[in-house]
Order: sequence, then C-alpha cells, then structure tokens
Amino acid sequence: MTALYIILAGLCIASFIGSLAYRVPRGISIVKPPSFCPSCETRLGPADLVPVASFVALLGRCRHCGVRIPFQYLVVELCVPAVFFFLYRRFGISLLFLTYSYLCCVMFYLSLVDIDTAHVGIWDIGAVYLAAAAVVCLSAFGKTPHRSGWYLFGALAGAALVGVSYAVVFFVKKRIPMGGGDLLVVPALGLCTGLRGIVHVLIAGAALGTLLGVVLITVRAVKADRKFPMLPYLAFGIVIELLLFS
Ligand SMILES: [Zn+2]
Repeated sequence: MTALYIILAGLCIASFIGSLAYRVPRGISIVKPPSFCPSCETRLGPADLVPVASFVALLGRCRHCGVRIPFQYLVVELCVPAVFFFLYRRFGISLLFLTYSYLCCVMFYLSLVDIDTAHVGIWDIGAVYLAAAAVVCLSAFGKTPHRSGWYLFGALAGAALVGVSYAVVFFVKKRIPMGGGDLLVVPALGLCTGLRGIVHVLIAGAALGTLLGVVLITVRAVKADRKFPMLPYLAFGIVIELLLFS
C-alpha cells in the first residue's frame, strides 16, 4: 500500500516539476495563473491535467489548439514515480530515501529547463548542493552506506573533472568557458554519490549521450554541430547510480 501512495505522490510531483520548469525560467508565478496551454493560453481543465493519462489520451497534443506537448514532459511523468518506487524498494522510508528522491526531482527539473532554455541559473544548481549537504549531514550521523570521506572524495573527483574540462576549453579553444555553468552540478553529484558513484554517473551519462547523439545525427533529426543539453544525461546517470549501485 505504501508503494502505491509513493507512486501517486510521484505522479503529482512530476506534474508539478513540469509546471515549475516552464514557469520559473519565464518568471511566471508558480500559483497564478492556473495551468494553461503555453501556445493558445487556454486554461486547462482537470481532464487535461492527469499525469501520463492526459498525454496519452490527447496523443501528446493540446486539446484546444493541437500544439504538440514536448515529449520530455511525458518522460518525466513516467520516470519520477518509477524512480520513487525503486528508491523506496532500495532504501525504505528513510531520510536517505527522501534526500535521493529530492535529488532526482531537482535533476529532472534541471533537465527540462536545460532542454527548453539551455540556461540553468546558479540558484537551480544550488538546489543540487542542498541535496549534497543533506547527504553529508546524514553520513556524519551514520545514516548512509558509507562514511563522510567517501562522499567528500566524490566531490573532489567531480571538481577535478570540471576543472580539467574548463582548462581544456580555456587553453585549447582559447576562450573563457561560458555557458558551461551546468557542469558545476558535477561536484555536487559527486558529494551525493561518492568517488565510485560519480564515475558511474559520468559513464552512464556519456554512454546515453553518445548513443542518442549518434542515433539522432544518423537519422538527421539534429545537426552534428548542435550543442546538446548536458543535464538530462547527468540526470540519467544519477538515476542509474542510485538505483543500481548506491
Ligand atoms: Zn493550446
């Protein structure tokens, strides 16, 4: 029964994440106006707002103007409840379960913002560090599978990787790294998962990124020189790490 409540909570939170990801970057209040179609601005009724089911019933289009609802919103609505469920199976109802669930929600939110606007702000990244701070606190009280040092080494490894990639851009491409702010989440993810964890996150993220990139370029859905958003791949990596290895 608990699992069912967790899945239902996941569906509602996923829907809220989608709304936040659209509104926050555009400076729209998160309470007013009530849910609306971004294209025709028609206010959406309850039948349009059931997570997953509405998307499927309307074949991914607005009931009123027919504009296509971005596919990534469906992916988040499916992933959040699934991730909640498997985290619950792995960690039970615990502070670590809540922390990791929060971390996944933040990463899904950042992924939607990254795909949509390609601009993730410093406050958005701060939300990941909040999860990292919680993991460090929990490790200090012995509530995590590893000691604090394990997580701190993860953060150092993440920071070193970010430092190296910034240095490569600076010295090889002779420009100050701009727009690479999203990489600042890597040390925080290292703090959340530890040294081995951050390696898994990056390998899983890079594997998915490469696979998807090759497929999309092969079918000519995107141009080869297009900048890919990074955060969805890191979100995928963190989910893999938390569900399979943590
Ligand atoms: Zn519409």
